[in-house]
Amino acid sequence: MPIYEYFCPVCKSKFELLRLMSEIDVTAVCPVCNTPSSRTLSKFACYVKDAGGSSSSVGGSSCSGCSATDCGSCGK
Ligand SMILES: [Zn+2]
Repeated sequence: MPIYEYFCPVCKSKFELLRLMSEIDVTAVCPVCNTPSSRTLSKFACYVKDAGGSSSSVGGSSCSGCSATDCGSCGK
């Protein structure tokens, strides 16, 4: 069973979950603050975002409505 990495846009914590292939698109919930979190596409994208400290779209974010790299919190 593959391990997937998730990133919480609220508390900035990363967590990993064992998931079945059929569960890839199922929303994971942050174990710290219970915020729905999206699967990170690559560790490199997270590193760039952390290093830059800006809210510009890095790592292929499709969201222009909030500073998160995924859209678990803004509804877009
Ligand atoms: Zn969280």
